[in-house]
Amino acid sequence: MSNKKILIVEDESIIAEDISDSLISLGYSITDIVYSGEEAILSAATFRPDLVLMDVNLQGEIDGITAAERIRSRFQVPVVYLTAYADEKTLRRVNATQPFGYIVKPFEEKNLHTTIQLALHRNHYDSLTNLPNRSLLREQLSQVLDKQKALPAMIPVVTLSLDRINRINSTFGHDIGDSVLCKVAERLSNCTEKINLVARLEAAEFAIVLEPVAEKQDAAKIAQNILDIVAQPMIVKGSELYVTASIGICLSRGDGNDGEELLKNAYIAMYNSQQEGGNKYKFYTAKVANSSINQFTQETCLRNALKRSEFEVYYEPQIEIKTGKIIGAEALVRWNHPKRGRVSPGEFIPMAEEMGLISPLGEWVLETACRQTKAWQIEGLPPLRISVNLSARQFDKKNLTERVSQILRETNLDPKCLELELTEGLILQDEMAATQAFTIWREMGIRIAIDDFGTGYSSLSYPKRFAFDAIKIDKSFIRDIANDRQNAAITVAIIQMAHSMNLTVIAEGVENEQELAFLCSHDCDEIQGHFFSQALPRAEFEALLKSDKCWEL
Ligand code: C2E
Ligand code: MG
Ligand code: MG
Repeated sequence: MSNKKILIVEDESIIAEDISDSLISLGYSITDIVYSGEEAILSAATFRPDLVLMDVNLQGEIDGITAAERIRSRFQVPVVYLTAYADEKTLRRVNATQPFGYIVKPFEEKNLHTTIQLALHRNHYDSLTNLPNRSLLREQLSQVLDKQKALPAMIPVVTLSLDRINRINSTFGHDIGDSVLCKVAERLSNCTEKINLVARLEAAEFAIVLEPVAEKQDAAKIAQNILDIVAQPMIVKGSELYVTASIGICLSRGDGNDGEELLKNAYIAMYNSQQEGGNKYKFYTAKVANSSINQFTQETCLRNALKRSEFEVYYEPQIEIKTGKIIGAEALVRWNHPKRGRVSPGEFIPMAEEMGLISPLGEWVLETACRQTKAWQIEGLPPLRISVNLSARQFDKKNLTERVSQILRETNLDPKCLELELTEGLILQDEMAATQAFTIWREMGIRIAIDDFGTGYSSLSYPKRFAFDAIKIDKSFIRDIANDRQNAAITVAIIQMAHSMNLTVIAEGVENEQELAFLCSHDCDEIQGHFFSQALPRAEFEALLKSDKCWEL
């Protein structure tokens, strides 16, 4: 009948025997009967039962609730509690472990059976989408593969991940994000014709096992069809939303020996689709695997870099034209890679963004830069404004504004000494979040600068719509500005517009005397670039600051 294996944990041997008899008569098999929490954990580790029946009141060091928690979190085995009597406090503890069921002794066989069935069912289905979860998929996939073994057709195993779901969560809230997941689950479950199994793996990732195909091309067609179905607009709580997906495909026989391996390889292919911008499918190939493994190794390095203190903040001086003195510094992060040496942020910042690491990294840079600036102030060095770059992805985190003020509090830096650099892309991606954050920051006294100004869209309308303090003209406009008439015209227009709105203008990437002369004669306020200095390590910048250097401009 049910064939499920159950571990019984009960210190009254008569009751334990009784339960065991009942379960056997109901068609279950018993992996073990044990009498203490310690034995229960050991037995679960050894026999991997499908379910544990756990007495709440066990004698010994580890009581039933603690043992249940460990078994569930370590081995993902559902636990049903048994108890004769429990006080309020115990019941609260039981509830806190989100039990799969609760049986009061003495029990009826019928109740026991139903409770176990429900627990087994719940442990196999995702509670949000009601789709099978990973553990049920594993079972079902291995059955499908077994059945197909002797036949010539191939089984395509597909993994699918929704692109940019974090953006939906941060823009519209997690409720809408969850509704999107449910809609997608529904759409996938409804295309039953070519699909054998659908499961939710985690977050926004699904696995799909297709019906057998004779050729690879057949799987490609179905995958494209799935992409089209996902990409159709959906109405969620009155808003029209569009989502796309990245798909990875691998084929039974050839691409893997068992379900686990097929899923793993489909994942690698899916990862490759994501890397190429999403909304596409990719087949698993050895080449994809190799490039992904390279990427994986790089990512592992990057993941560990923060822990291993491989990042360093460099400081690039910003000079005020009026005085010729250093007025501020831009904090620019560097990665001292143990094998590759210094890696430029242009390479690893996008990777950190993609991997969700930009928030911890960005916060580390902010904290380091603020702490350093405060230390220089205490030392009595000339006053300095510190500029820190923020990535659009940091806005995905709800608590960004709170983190910024926390860091200022902890480092004890006056908010007036901090400038945050943001790009136009950021405003474009999430106008509401940007407006809210700008308002909070400016009320605190933090300055806001728009970085790489002119490289985004409709930039000239931003200063009217958003409150900020400074504009940084992108270095591509500064290049050869004395001879390039188009660059000159754009730069002059930006300076005039900014001044008409009382904004400070900083030109970045100034490399030579001609560029500098042009900017001085057109009333630019501040400048930075290699003509003055590259970004410098802390000690070198400190020496420059101490020299109190004044440039003749
Ligand atoms: P950005 O914020 O526009 O920074 C200016 C970049 O121009 C820096 O490159 C700087 O070293 C470079 N630069 C300065 N003067 C000159 C010059 O005269 N000529 C030329 N050709 N380049 C010059 P870097 O340090 O490689 O940073 C590149 C980008 O990486 C930055 O552009 C910024 O978007 C990002 N980035 C750097 N540090 C951080 C960080 O801590 N957080 C975030 N989110 N992004 C960062
Ligand atoms: Mg910048
Ligand atoms: Mg810039």
